[in-house]
Order: sequence, then structure tokens, then C-alpha cells
Amino acid sequence: MEIIRAEHSGFCFGVKRAIDAAFEEAEKASGEKRLFTCGQIIHNHAVTDYLESKGVAIIDSLDQASYGDTVIVRSHGEPEEFYKMADQKGIRLVDTTCVFVAKIHKLVNEASKEGRPVIIVGSRNHQEVVATNGWCGYNAVIIENPDEAIESIRRIKRLTEETGMAPLVVCQTTIRAELLDSILQILEKNDVEYIIKNTICNATKDRQDSCAELASRVDAMIVVGGKNSSNTKKLYEIASRYCKSSYFVQNADELELHCIKKYNKIGIIAGASTPEWIIEEVISRMTINEENISMMDFMDHIDESLRLPKPGEIIEGTVVQVRDNEVIVNMGRKKDGILRADEVVLEEGQTLSDLYKVDDSIQAKVIKSDDGEGGILLSKKRLLAEENYDELVEAMENKTSINVTILRAVNGGVIAGYKEVTGFIPMSQLSDRFVEKADDYIGQSMDVKVLRVDARKNKAVFSRKAALSEEKKRAAEEIWSNLNVGDVVEGKVMRFTNYGAFVDIGGLDGLLHISEISWGKLVHPEEVLKVGDIINVKILALNKEQGKISLGYKFNKPEPWSLVGTKYNVGDVIQGKVVQLQGYGAFVEIEAGLDGLVHISEIANKRVETVSDELSVGQVVDVKIVEVDPELKRISLSIKAALPKEEAVEEAADEE
Ligand code: SF4
Repeated sequence: MEIIRAEHSGFCFGVKRAIDAAFEEAEKASGEKRLFTCGQIIHNHAVTDYLESKGVAIIDSLDQASYGDTVIVRSHGEPEEFYKMADQKGIRLVDTTCVFVAKIHKLVNEASKEGRPVIIVGSRNHQEVVATNGWCGYNAVIIENPDEAIESIRRIKRLTEETGMAPLVVCQTTIRAELLDSILQILEKNDVEYIIKNTICNATKDRQDSCAELASRVDAMIVVGGKNSSNTKKLYEIASRYCKSSYFVQNADELELHCIKKYNKIGIIAGASTPEWIIEEVISRMTINEENISMMDFMDHIDESLRLPKPGEIIEGTVVQVRDNEVIVNMGRKKDGILRADEVVLEEGQTLSDLYKVDDSIQAKVIKSDDGEGGILLSKKRLLAEENYDELVEAMENKTSINVTILRAVNGGVIAGYKEVTGFIPMSQLSDRFVEKADDYIGQSMDVKVLRVDARKNKAVFSRKAALSEEKKRAAEEIWSNLNVGDVVEGKVMRFTNYGAFVDIGGLDGLLHISEISWGKLVHPEEVLKVGDIINVKILALNKEQGKISLGYKFNKPEPWSLVGTKYNVGDVIQGKVVQLQGYGAFVEIEAGLDGLVHISEIANKRVETVSDELSVGQVVDVKIVEVDPELKRISLSIKAALPKEEAVEEAADEE
């Protein structure tokens, strides 16, 4: 069996430096001083468990540390205020921020002091991005994907205008180069000027490239790393793409030798958070010869049957007896397992015998190695909870929604249940609107996004607001894809401005410019429309990148000049409204957008000195169409010609 190790594998430079420093500090403190890391120093339980056993505890924030304590700063870094707070509280920091990350902090800090806007391309919940944002006063525009780049254009342009400076673009060290390129292209397409500092670190890309290269030339691939490490999961995904026989193991114990002994050439790669000793253990387990493999399998089997499972272990067994309150499980060990009814999820009215029969295979979690009477206590509920936490982690990493039920209100938010686990929804994340009373939500079931999960502490944080924002984005996408210039759609008048009205066309707002409301001249849209009116509007223009929709309403009425010759003919006497007075006559509107001139000599059967002596704006008058010039679009009208004969004679007599 040939074992080939990937060219780039295991700890990256920054993580190695952080772990070395943590071990060194643990050694120095030798359990006498309090030593912490703020958050997990690395996504690998073997390492964090080991560090915890050496006295390095994990805290969530500096609030949990006090004067004289030592806190190790992770390679992802921390925001500027973290350092200030440590200083104020007299907490000693061991700063292992990766030099590449520290360089980004310096760049954004300098830009911020200069007053220059900052754009960070990366995941806004990733610790590295959170910390970087903290070095520019939390004012950075964070862009996670091309959609967000489009949405941010207006804000970036406004910031550029306000500061008179092109923004500085930096990125999370572990993003893909293609993502950065696509976002820069969008900025360029929208005429956004920027200064780019490509801060992508090659460590991740090198690992992914060498994984693909190795997987394509071996019979089987072993990917070693924590199941909650996203970069290791990504390596497994790549390995599986290029090599059908790929295995994901957390350590040597998980490697099933009988599965891999048939392969001649085996590749091995480890995630950036996998320590060297775990990789070496996996390699040495693979390098024993075949005879030893069979012997080891046999010995493993014997050992396994003698060993009592530890609390937390997941075991498999067979049901040997089903009683009213418990199920007895044979696990191939020297003692049987006991699964009590209160450790099983039972629906109302359901009993253990409804769920289990003798000889059924069963999987459960060990909660006690000995119940005091020689049995091993098992739990199905806790196994489910663990699976549920895994689902939460997966949902968080894939940014998918989960469905929860709101159970109760607590200080600052609500507790929501997801299958067998619960999570907290802060008040500010309960809706995309202001929430006054959390009680109103109790009992409701809703889709939420997972913001944070810490299965070790049984904690999770959800956001309904984030799910709503995604739902709205998706709905908007769907509407955009169904809109075409020229379509006539129904809309609701939402609000007015001096230059028009905003109309909701099924989830998106379009602008109905004042000039598109009526063929005539309007001073304010309210002259024709009311807020809440349901109207048919025509799509005149679409600009998806800028999110702009231009609408038209006047198309509902014919173009006024098209009526001349049909509705309006020379000789017709019609009613009109005086809209403008001039020295030489008055303009009379006979149809919105269709005005005619009543010359001063045509106002009355007498000599008129001043037009305003006879007419006023807004006055409704009868006029006769005396001449139409379609080419110049002019209509001549006469009031005196429209007068009934007797009136005309009386007026003429008065004049004499
Ligand atoms: S991935 Fe790169 S930037 Fe991040 S810790 Fe490792 S070396 Fe530093």
C-alpha cells in the first residue's frame, strides 16, 4: 500500500503559530493562573479538549475574564475595542492574530483615520470579518456575494460622494478569488471607483488545489479533520469529486482498516485546523501490514467487548427486551444498556413497545457508564439533540433556514424550539419590524436562520429577521425575472414625492414619474391619484442592477392629439378649462394634455383690453374649435363663436 500525503496539508502558518503559543502559555501557567481563549482557538475538538485539560478554558467575551487573567487572541484577530477593554480590565493578552490578518487591520484602520470608506468582501458573521470591521469603527460596507454588491452600490456611491474618496476594498483571507473578482466586476460596471488590496491568503487555495490534484491520481483519499471545520468539509467535498472512495475521519480511531486495505494507492490530506499528531497517527495506523490488520481488527473486537462505553459515546446495539418503562439493549459489551422511557421522544399516548421490538437495531448515546446496578444508561433524546445540533451547524454553514416554534418569552427575546434543542432569538432579530411584545409570538412556528451554535454549551442563536430578508430577496428575484418592459401590471400607490408616486407592484416599488401620470401638466401627483389606489401601470424601463423600475400610467388614456379629427373637429362647441392667461389670449384645456388658444379678439363680442378682465384661471368656458393645425399641434378656439345667438347679439349691442 502506497500512502501519498498532499503537498499542502494540516495547520497553516497562522493557526500553527496560535496553537504553539497556546500550548506554551498552558505550560507556563501550569494550572496556577486562569488562562482563556475567546471563542474556540481552532475548529478541532481534539485540540480544544486537550487545551481545556491543560487549563485553557473557552470564554465568549472578555466580560468573563478579570484582572490578572490571560486571554489568547486567536489567529482570526479581535476588534480594536477588545484590546482597549483588556487594557482597562488589566487582562494580559497573548496576541496570536495571524500577520496576514493583522495587516488587514492596519490597512482598514489607516483608511478609516483618513476618512476613507472601507469595503470588506467576506462573510459578515465570520470572526475575522467581525474583527476587521472593528478596526474601522464598524463602518465598513460588508459584501458577502454578488447580490449584496448590487444592493450596496447606492450606499458606496453616497459614501464616496460624502468623503470625496474612493473606498478601500479588502477581503476575508479565506474567500475564493472568483468571488472577489465577481464583486469587483459589479463595482466597475456601476462606475464605482475603488482601491483594491487583495488580502486573500493562499493557504486555503493551496490545500484545495493539492487535494484535487492528489485525489485524481489515487485509489482512495483520506481526509482528516474536525467534522465542524468548514475548510476540512470543503476538502472532503473536493476529494469526493475527484475520487469515489473518499473517507472523512476525525482521528485514527475512526479509520476502518478493513475498508481501505483493498487499495494500492491512498492519498491523505488534512484541514488547516488538524494537528500534525493526528495526521501522523492516521498514517501509522494505515502502514501496518495486512496480517496485522486482521489481527488488529480481532484485537479491537475483543477490546471493544471488554471496554465500557464512556458517557457521550454513541453506541449501536440490539433490543433484547422491551418493558413498560425501559428497553434493554445488547451492545456486545460486558454490560447491557438501559434506555429509559424519559430518554426517548414519545408522542402523546405512545409507549415504548410501539417504537421498539425485540431484535430491532438501535443507536443511542451513553449518558452513564454504570447506573449503580450494573447497567449502562442510554439516551435517544440526547442523540437526537446532538444530531439536531449538527443540523443547526449545517444550516448555519449553508445559510439555509430551519423551522422553529416559539416556546416562551425571556429577557431580551424568546426561546425557540427546533426538534429536541432550543435556541435564543433576540428581540431585534424576531422580525424585520420593531417588536413591542414578544408574548405575541408564543406558539408561532416560523422559518429562521441560524446565527450561532455552540453544541458544547447547548446554545444556539436564531434570526427571523435574516430569514425574512432572504424571503423578500427571493420574492423580489422572482418578480424581477417575470417583469418585462411594456408589461401592464396592477399596483398600489404607496407614497408621493414632488416628482411622482411610488407604486408597489407585488413586492417591488416602481417610480411613477409625475410626467407619466397624466398627459396634462400636474403640480402634484395627488391631483390624479390617492395613496392606496389600485391602478394599472405600464413598465417603461427596468434596471435590475440599480433596482430601479420606471412606470407609466397615462397610457390608460389615449394620446390627446390622436383625438383631434375624431373626438374634436373644427366647428365643434365644447367645454374647456382656462389654464393660462397671456397678454394675447388665454389657453384653454379641452382634454388633459390638449390645450387650445383663445385669442384676445375671440374672447367676447366686444373689444377686450385685458384678458384677465374677462377670464380667470380655472374658469370653465364653452369654446368653438375654429382651426386645427396638426403639424404645429395648434388648436385655435373661440369663446365668442360659441356664444348662443341671443347672447352674441346682446354683447354686440352693449359694445355699440
Ligand atoms: S489561513 Fe492564512 S491568514 Fe488565515 S491564519 Fe492561516 S495563514 Fe493566516
